[in-house]
Amino acid sequence: MTVRNELLKSIRQAEPYVPGEQPRHKVVKLNTNENPYPPSPRVAEALRNADADALRLYPDPEASALTEALAEYYGVEKDQVFVGVGSDDVISLCFLTFFNSEKPILFPDITYSFYKVWAQLYRIPYECPKLDEDFRIVREDYYRENGGIIFPNPNAPTAVYEELDFVEDILEHNRDSIVIVDEAYIDFAGRSAMELIGKYDNLIVVQTFSKSRSMAGMRIGYAVSNPELIRCLSNVKYSFNSYTMNQPALLCGAAAVKDEEYFKEKIRMIVKTREWAKDELGRLGFVFPEPKANFIFARHPKCDAQKLFEELKAHNIYVRHWNTERIRDHLRITIGTKEEMAALFDFLKKAL
Ligand SMILES: *Cc1c(COP(=O)(O)O)cnc(C)c1O
Repeated sequence: MTVRNELLKSIRQAEPYVPGEQPRHKVVKLNTNENPYPPSPRVAEALRNADADALRLYPDPEASALTEALAEYYGVEKDQVFVGVGSDDVISLCFLTFFNSEKPILFPDITYSFYKVWAQLYRIPYECPKLDEDFRIVREDYYRENGGIIFPNPNAPTAVYEELDFVEDILEHNRDSIVIVDEAYIDFAGRSAMELIGKYDNLIVVQTFSKSRSMAGMRIGYAVSNPELIRCLSNVKYSFNSYTMNQPALLCGAAAVKDEEYFKEKIRMIVKTREWAKDELGRLGFVFPEPKANFIFARHPKCDAQKLFEELKAHNIYVRHWNTERIRDHLRITIGTKEEMAALFDFLKKAL
């Protein structure tokens, strides 16, 4: 049966975000920037100790166990932290809460493709200033009037990191707009904009447990800002779902944050593998902007990226490729374990 136009015309029709594949069979999985290592053993312990009987009760609507752990970790107050079901949930709520003017919001032309999806879903006007030839954000493009700004730092899928003075310059030039810095990959990069929160009332920093904390499957993200903006965000959240975070996620998240040593060690390992991967890819003739995330955005001057992507996939090595303007000659390669990367390089040596 087909639905009649009379019905269709008043239905919200969205063009959804397309995530990377999650194949059922075992592959060398370098396509969705997951962490190749398990989460802290304290997370497994928290899961073992979880009380199934307690699930009959609603979870704490304030998610205190987790917000308190994060507040302590970052040295901020509890009312400066907002948690959600992955940073996708948090950023989506930020769009709904903070991007409400008639003016267009700004984000780069090459960036996390979910931003455009949310802008369209919520009917927020947007403009996408072009990254320069080296995939750097052109700061002057963000000096014009706008209804808000969002960019990831490091950017995705380019892995390019901008220093804190760049972020501060954007904040300075946009005192009357909300600026969201999506720091999904900051733990692999450098200084976080978190330290600017006391200085700029227009700043929101968003981070996630999905990459550096190895918990993509648990769905935990968070925003840190001043209490007033966090209150606005919470009010919107409580206006459609009081209980977004389930009990096990709150306990496991808090347990992960408390194991700083394990977290730092795993980041060191991934950064070390990344530096080795840079050398190997360079030797094979790939070129890429300096990567500061847990992935490398690489192009081979003599090789068709789409074809290489498909060949890799046929050999059970999954990377990410977008057949879109300006980046269709690139592959985004997640940093896996040393063994996984070695499998990739072995294949590339034969294929090229
Ligand atoms: C992975 C990613 C996110 C979302 O991650 P969640 O799993 O929803 O926390 C947000 N922004 C960028 C740039 C990402 O790469």
